[in-house]
Amino acid sequence: LTNNISSSFIVNSGCTDVEIPHATLPEFLSTYYDKYERFTAVECSVTKRKYTYGEIRSKSTNLAKAFRKIFKLENGDVVAIILKNIPEYPIADIGIMKANLISSTVSPVFTSDEIARQLIDSNAKVVITDVDLSTTVKKAVDIIAKKLPLLAIKTHKDQSLPENSIDFHELVNTKVDYPEIQPGNPDDVVFLPYSSGTTGLPKGVQLTHKNLLANMIQPTHDNINYRIDATDSFQEHLPAVIPLYHVYGHNVVMHNITLCGGKMITLPGFSIESYISMLKQYQNNTIYFMAPPLFLLMIELEAVKKEYLKNARVMSNGAAPLASSDELRFIEKFGDHLTVLQGYGLTETAPVVSTLYPKIMEKVEVYRGSIGRPLPNTQIKIVDPEDSTNTPLGPNISGELLVKGPQVMKGYLNLPEETKKTITEDGWLRTGDASYYNEEGFMYIVDRYKELIKVRGNQVPPAELEALIRTFPGVADAAVIGIPNKFSGELPRAYIVPKAGAKVDTKSLDQFVSEKVTRYKKLEGGIVLVKEIPKNTSGKILRKKIRDTYIAKGI
Ligand code: AMP
Repeated sequence: LTNNISSSFIVNSGCTDVEIPHATLPEFLSTYYDKYERFTAVECSVTKRKYTYGEIRSKSTNLAKAFRKIFKLENGDVVAIILKNIPEYPIADIGIMKANLISSTVSPVFTSDEIARQLIDSNAKVVITDVDLSTTVKKAVDIIAKKLPLLAIKTHKDQSLPENSIDFHELVNTKVDYPEIQPGNPDDVVFLPYSSGTTGLPKGVQLTHKNLLANMIQPTHDNINYRIDATDSFQEHLPAVIPLYHVYGHNVVMHNITLCGGKMITLPGFSIESYISMLKQYQNNTIYFMAPPLFLLMIELEAVKKEYLKNARVMSNGAAPLASSDELRFIEKFGDHLTVLQGYGLTETAPVVSTLYPKIMEKVEVYRGSIGRPLPNTQIKIVDPEDSTNTPLGPNISGELLVKGPQVMKGYLNLPEETKKTITEDGWLRTGDASYYNEEGFMYIVDRYKELIKVRGNQVPPAELEALIRTFPGVADAAVIGIPNKFSGELPRAYIVPKAGAKVDTKSLDQFVSEKVTRYKKLEGGIVLVKEIPKNTSGKILRKKIRDTYIAKGI
């Protein structure tokens, strides 16, 4: 065994730990915002709107003071951000943290119902959105029947503001007469994204300053870090294509890039055409954070030319598994000047748990398909999910991956019982992922024990779809599982038991669901009528049994 596996089968990085400063995020980040103030921090690939680090610093301070003075927000209040990937994202997010508030980011493709649910659960006091999304967002605010101030961002000069909304640009460009806001505590919650975890409905994931800061510092270890600090002659360019509302885009792309003074290229609203146009225009992009569907698109579309990636060095995959054969096909098409790295993480771990270590691996290709080793300061163990003692298993045996480290969330918002089930008393977070490690301490994800479905890297909680389907006339019971799909990874399929004597029109049911949920939650895997849903004695859906009995038989 190598030096990163202890005799008791706890796997760690094998490197020295990194020191995590005792500071809040805005305190920590301010050094970098000062250091890189004249560099462009973000640019929209479509409209070319851009901001320097210095501009984000001053605009976010104005916003923070406005939150306190105009909106009377207090420490720990929640502000919801419902934005596509636009260059104002960091201004909004940093403004929230500078005011000691909590940002809860909402998917910009959510329906009004889905937005309303998060606004209610998070108890958001103010909403930031852009003019294009404001009709959907206003409907959501109407659903919750509470007057919430709406800060709207104009993304084009000639746009007009929706009724009763406040001009975000005007607000952030105006100096507010308010005393300096004293920083909060590093253990305060600063970010509240939503995740369904191992079971049930989406839950608020409470991430503290410390969680986020730790996960920014951990990959700066010499053995991992591949980012080059900005100088007059060089600046890292990172496209922000994966959504910034998700912890992966939010932390790994948007905040981490600050440490090297890099430039983020935002793409608002993904389409194949706009993506290819961005790749073509920004051939100086150096580091790409992606999810499997983007890799597949780039491999398969002829319109994505090799030369578009001529300046790229690192292509990093996260959010869902990327097959080693696809890693290989990618290199074959775009060239071996590229290092394809895979990382693994969860919303609950802010998000990174493990990654490949480019600096200490002689041959990256040997580790294709691996999610690497745990980050510094992080331990993992693989346990038998049926074993209540959580005893660590040895190499090459798969089991549930448990993780411990400074990036593990504080807990789920207002759900102490769910938190207790997810984080053991001695601090291990149950990931619900099936994994093993080999004798060299490299980890591989093989399956998921948890019910979560991932469609193109996005979370689809079956419990949410099942609850919705059960409200449809004639449905007695429903179970939703993911079926494998080449491009999307998985697609949600519903198994429905009709009420005795009732007929369920699957077409109308499909339409009903499509109107209520965002596009990636649609039942694109199909709807199947069955006589019964396999359950255990306490009524829990046996999803594996559905896979074994129905899918295996082609039903
Ligand atoms: P989320 O909280 O949305 O980031 O989803 C986390 C889940 O995504 C993990 O628990 C895994 O099931 C899956 N996941 C993330 N990264 C990877 C990866 N590199 N390979 C396989 N699955 C992954």
